[in-house]
Amino acid sequence: MIYFRNCLADISPYVPGKRVEEVAKEFGIKKIVKLASNENPFGCSPKALKSLKNASPEFYPDAHCSALREKLAAKLRVNENQLIFGAGSDELITLISRAVVNPGDECLTGEISFPQYAASVKAMDGIVSFIKMPNYAYDLYEILYRITTKTKLIFIANPNNPTGTAFLPEERERFLKAVPSDVLVVLDEAYSEYFGHSSTEAVSRYENLIVLRTFSKAYGLAALRIGYGISNEYIISELEKIRNPFNVTSAAQSAAFAALDDEGFIDKSVSQNKTAMEFFRGELDRLGIYYITSFANFLTIASPIDPKLAFDELLKKGFIVRPVFENFLRVTIGKTEDMKNLVSILGTFLVDKRFKK
Ligand code: PMP
Repeated sequence: MIYFRNCLADISPYVPGKRVEEVAKEFGIKKIVKLASNENPFGCSPKALKSLKNASPEFYPDAHCSALREKLAAKLRVNENQLIFGAGSDELITLISRAVVNPGDECLTGEISFPQYAASVKAMDGIVSFIKMPNYAYDLYEILYRITTKTKLIFIANPNNPTGTAFLPEERERFLKAVPSDVLVVLDEAYSEYFGHSSTEAVSRYENLIVLRTFSKAYGLAALRIGYGISNEYIISELEKIRNPFNVTSAAQSAAFAALDDEGFIDKSVSQNKTAMEFFRGELDRLGIYYITSFANFLTIASPIDPKLAFDELLKKGFIVRPVFENFLRVTIGKTEDMKNLVSILGTFLVDKRFKK
């Protein structure tokens, strides 16, 4: 019998959203709409797709992501050594915990937030304190109040997943000014393109801030696994010591490079998301289904019936959504046409508005 590290006892494996092929096979349906993982329903930029044709899989990728680094640094107006690239921002979350958390160190995060934060800290024998989230949003003052001498790390997603809530730059500044400078703040901005705000310009003003962003959401490159962190040069140089050398594939680097040349695709995706979000919210209002106001590309709605039942019923009709917490379902905003069909199914659940326990 192999005995694994004790901390693994308290970690559950990540449960991904259901796959399209799985649902197609199980229910024998052809058209399946996946609204479970906050991907871009419009795919990715044609420029990014085209770049994949020049791949040379026999060579190791550029370990430094040189071309992409140069282009992104110019776009973000930071120095090239203020950037670190990862196989998705997921990898960077793990990397940060590995670099910062000693056994017994404490990390603060929201009680309804991205599960990888807690998992990465626990894997380092760190202690996670979950901060309550009134109205499903981070209470930044409560986080400050809970900082102790053991606190090393704070993980915050803005907008937050799975609630979609967000705080504005002004509130962020008040928070960052009050955090002790030896506590690293990770602002995970996976959905910043949809929110329209990012903290990248703040990284040079604080010695304890790292911002994470990804090409998986608005850029539509989730399968390629590429995300990045922006911080000051000291933090990045420490993280670089334990980054796996060839962590970002050549395909991911060239697609991201090409995607940066197509801001039109991002603008269009964001505006189509806005239109479909407004339509969906309007219909939910009409039906009397509660939702949490979202600044991302998903809406977290209170299921009118038992969420597991709703999930199964939607699956049978070809919609994959995601049960998240309590009786909430997280629904990625898809194309307006798909949202129309989804709404008509949700309407059939509403025989009685009393939530059935
Ligand atoms: N952070 C947040 C808040 C997310 O929602 C996700 C994706 N679900 C990630 C990070 C990870 O994204 P990726 O690894 O694809 O960059």
